[in-house]
Amino acid sequence: MQAQLPALQKLVRQLQRVPYLASKNVYKVVAHFLNSDMKSVEQLCQAILEAKQSVKPCVRCYNWSEDADLCTICLSPRRDEKVICVVETWHDLLAIEKSGEFKGLYHVLGGSLCPLEGVGPDQLRIGELLVRLTEGVSELIFATNPTPEGEATASYIASKIQSSPISISKLASGVPIGSSLEYMDRVTICKALLGRRPF
Ligand SMILES: [Zn+2]
Repeated sequence: MQAQLPALQKLVRQLQRVPYLASKNVYKVVAHFLNSDMKSVEQLCQAILEAKQSVKPCVRCYNWSEDADLCTICLSPRRDEKVICVVETWHDLLAIEKSGEFKGLYHVLGGSLCPLEGVGPDQLRIGELLVRLTEGVSELIFATNPTPEGEATASYIASKIQSSPISISKLASGVPIGSSLEYMDRVTICKALLGRRPF
């Protein structure tokens, strides 16, 4: 890049540090900001700062929460506290919520086991889940993604609670192998939840 454009270089470098912003798209994002009016750029920066200050992980399920220790799902009196659905990420939680079918609580692991990338049980919120399972939970539903990592994660957790009386199930087939919950439609997730089978 041209050396006489230090401010532009700085912006590109900052954006390149953001995961999921493919490098070829960085220049389009930069052009978008430079072509935008000052007010909309300020609003975006302000929104990031505000979210960073007020959004925190729920202390129980690790869904995002705003200005409270517990998220709105954990705080809702209409949710069944005896049923926990285990998901890898917040996006997966959103996909299941969109189905409108699940009335229990969640546990967001923060990813899936992937030894090659250095993600072991200690890097996920598995220990926290095992503690929750000792607090009156009757059913655990695995909604980890149908990938080798997602399946291995569910198997690992199940192996830790083998002797527990908790009923363990997983989403029914119909969830395409290798895909991600966040890309599935509402009806597919609804069917997968209703047809869940013993793990
Ligand atoms: Zn929560």
